[in-house]
Formats: sequence, C-alpha cells, structure tokens
Amino acid sequence: MSSGLTPPRLRNDCFAMPQGVEWVPVDEALALLRARLHAVTGTEDLAVAYAHGRVLAAPAVARRSNPPRPNSAVDGYGFAHAATGEGVQRLPLVAGRAAAGQPFDDIVPLGHAVRILTGAILPDGVDTVVLEEDCATDGQIMAFDGPVKRAINTRQAGEDVREGTTILPAGRVLTPADLALLSAVGVGQVQVHRRLRVGVLSTGDELLPDPGAPAAPHQIFDANRPMLLALLAGWGFDAVDLGHAPDDAAQIAARLDQGAQSADAILTSGGASAGDEDHVSRLLRERGNVSSWRIAVKPGRPLALALWGGVPVFGLPGNPVAAFVCALVFARPALSLLSGAGWSQPQGFTVPAAFTKRKKAGRREYLRARLTESGAAEVFASEGSGRISGLSWATGLVELPDAACTIAPGDPVRYLPYASFGVSSGG
Ligand code: AMP
Ligand code: MG
Repeated sequence: MSSGLTPPRLRNDCFAMPQGVEWVPVDEALALLRARLHAVTGTEDLAVAYAHGRVLAAPAVARRSNPPRPNSAVDGYGFAHAATGEGVQRLPLVAGRAAAGQPFDDIVPLGHAVRILTGAILPDGVDTVVLEEDCATDGQIMAFDGPVKRAINTRQAGEDVREGTTILPAGRVLTPADLALLSAVGVGQVQVHRRLRVGVLSTGDELLPDPGAPAAPHQIFDANRPMLLALLAGWGFDAVDLGHAPDDAAQIAARLDQGAQSADAILTSGGASAGDEDHVSRLLRERGNVSSWRIAVKPGRPLALALWGGVPVFGLPGNPVAAFVCALVFARPALSLLSGAGWSQPQGFTVPAAFTKRKKAGRREYLRARLTESGAAEVFASEGSGRISGLSWATGLVELPDAACTIAPGDPVRYLPYASFGVSSGG
C-alpha cells in the first residue's frame, strides 16, 4: 500500500453564490458545483481483484498485448496458406498437436498441417486454420475444400490491445469488464483513489430512528437515513452513519464535528430551509460558511451548502422525495467529483408521455415515473413530496424543462432511469 499525495483543500468560499442571485436554475447550480469542487481523496495501490467500483487515480497502461501471440480462434487444423489453393486440398499431418497452454514447439513444414485447438499459439509454419467440422481426416492426412482465406480462424498478436497503449483513463470507475481487461494485459495492481467517505445525518425532533420501535403520535420514522446510506453505498462510497440529531444546534454541531473527523463529505436531511426550526441552515450560517442555494427545482428548492471543518456539507431537504431527488441530481455529481471520478451526468432518453401536465416557467421539475409496456412514461398519481410510496413505485424521473410547458399524452419527454443515476429500481 502506498498513500499518494494529499489533494488540495477546498476553498472556503467554494459554495458562495454570486451576489444578488435569488433563484438559481438547476444547470447553473450544477455548473457552479462542477467548477468549484475537486477530488479530495488520496490514493492507494490495490490488486486488481479488489478494485471493482474503485476510481483509477492514474491511467492504466497495457503491460502486454492481447493476445500476446497469434493463436487459433477454433478447434481445427493449421497450416501455411501459401501451400494451398482451389479444390480439394490434402495435407499430411505432423505428429503432435498445439493446444492452449501446450505449444507445439516444432516447425510445421510447408504443405503439412497440424492439429490445433482454440487458444493455442500458432506454431511456426502456420498462419491459417480450418475448422474441424470443415475437414475430413484419417489420422494421417487431413482434407478440405479450398480455397480458404489466409489467416482465417486466427487471432493476430495485439489485435485487441497493443502493449504500451493506455487502456483506461484516470477517473474511470472500474467495472467487472475493466477487471478482465486489466488482467488480460498483465496489469495486476492499479493506483486508485481511496474510497470517498460520506456521512449521513438526519435531523428533526419528530424522528424516531428505529422503525421497529413503538411510536408516539407526533413521531415519524426516519426514512431518509437508510435511503441515503444505501444510495451512497451503491455509488461506491463508504457510507458513514452519523445517526440522528434533534432540532438542537449543539447536538447537530456535535454530529457534524464527528462527521468532519470521520468523513470527506456529509449529507444532512431536514432543517435546511430558513424557518424557525431550520437548525441545520442556521448553524451552518453561523459556523460553516454556509450558502443557502435556493435552487429553482421541484421537489427540492433550498439546499444548504457549507464547509464544516473543511468538509463539504450538503444540507438536503427533509421531505424524503425532495431529499432523494436532490441527492441524485446535485449530491451525486458533486460527490463523484470529490471522489476523483469526475463529474457525472445521467444519460436520459426521450419517450412519449403517458400523462397530462401543465407547468409554469421558472423552475425545473422532476416527476416520479416509470415506463409502460409500450415504452411511454407514466407518472405517479400524486406530486406530494411526502409520498414516499411514489419513489418506490417509480423506476426513474421525468425531467421537465425550466420553461413553461404543457404536456399531453404522446408528447416527447425526457426520462432519466434511476439506473442512469447509478441507483437500482427493483425487480
Ligand atoms: P424539514 O426539511 O426539516 O422542514 O422537513 C420537511 C418534512 O420532511 C417534514 O414533514 C419532516 O417531518 C420530514 N422529514 C424530515 N426528515 C425526515 C426523515 N429523515 N425521514 C422522514 N421524513 C423526514
Ligand atoms: Mg425538520
């Protein structure tokens, strides 16, 4: 293990809003986050076998070509193409065979053939292979119908990857296929970013952490914390449970201190607006270089962004639907940048609407949606941001533009599957 350079700290004013800005459009808010945040994680060397989901800190370079040597793509018979022509070809077989891991270490004379199996290195004197099924043989001679193309059924050295080429860039989040690629070209160790640790804190006097506990009428169960912890784990981060704090500045501050010690970033939910009981935003304003971003988005709106002990805090709204949408739309790309993986943008696609909707200009809207059997987007019956069942019902979000719009069934809308945010959507 080696620990790499310590990245620069975030600037104190990294969340400052330009003077006089009232409502920030979503795209502007995202552009600001993108411009002001950077990777905060150090690096370590890791065996490829343990690197799934980790972020490459340096480009990966092929140490060996794939395939390293020319080999056979099929089971059959190999020979030099130069000695063959049109019509029935009859070639005497040499003794022995070439198999994967068992090279034939003699020369195959011109006009002769050798038994060869898939993955075997082409012996000297062999540049072409005919498929077993296309040959007849008595054990002494093999026969096939010519002509065949030179080099058919063979793989050339380096035809997939050449030694020395960069196969994966820094910032790549390693997939199972990447692990195969790295291994194939002889890369056994990679330099990756340390996992980003992200703390999750729920706030609110009404919250009861344990959904199995008896609840008084004024209490509700904490829905955001398990949701946010699971989102973070799914994004490849180390999710740090900072528990729950009542609406009390000292107790919230103590949890944030704990978070600043144990995490690289913190997500809070609840208390982020500007009301009497919005202790998170008040506290961050007093002690955390807060900037309250009034983002022109529904559900969501106020997002409190601050540095607490140098650690970025994303103060998400308390409503579970708003917390979920803001986590996907704002926190995920920001955290991705902090983790070294670069900015992330969901890949949406255009589908016909299976709903009717009229919206005013001035804010972007995200509707809980899923696709019908014919591929149209239907939306959850209620837009209430306390309707958690709609989040669970949905398999994605429909994104309506900032401008006013009227949508009728069949109109094109932009659908962003949960999967495009790196989130699973049930079976
Ligand atoms: P707040 O942003 O604190 O004003 O909360 C807005 C709404 O979300 C209120 O109805 C809260 O009770 C609710 N809420 C806040 N935090 C949570 C949570 N962790 N789980 C479920 N509901 C929450
Ligand atoms: Mg609250």
